[in-house]
Amino acid sequence: MARVRKVRKTPTGKKKIVFKRKQHRKSHCSLCKKVIHGVKRGGSKGPNRKYGGELCSACSRKVLKIKAKFKNKTIEKGDIPISLRKYM
Ligand SMILES: [Zn+2]
Repeated sequence: MARVRKVRKTPTGKKKIVFKRKQHRKSHCSLCKKVIHGVKRGGSKGPNRKYGGELCSACSRKVLKIKAKFKNKTIEKGDIPISLRKYM
């Protein structure tokens, strides 16, 4: 992980450069780019469901509904939005 330079003042008044590790960014939904809750920064997987840690709850609900419709042949492959086709 990249490091960040920071100038700190010591108790004696001297300036000192301190290197700190950059924090991981919060994981975002790959469809709507919102922050996914319940996922720790860097490492942990997130909620234990399908698309957990990849899609937010609203988007995963949307994807699963369309997937079920596609499986029951109520919609054609062409009716699925292009952004959701990789989850089918
Ligand atoms: Zn989303």
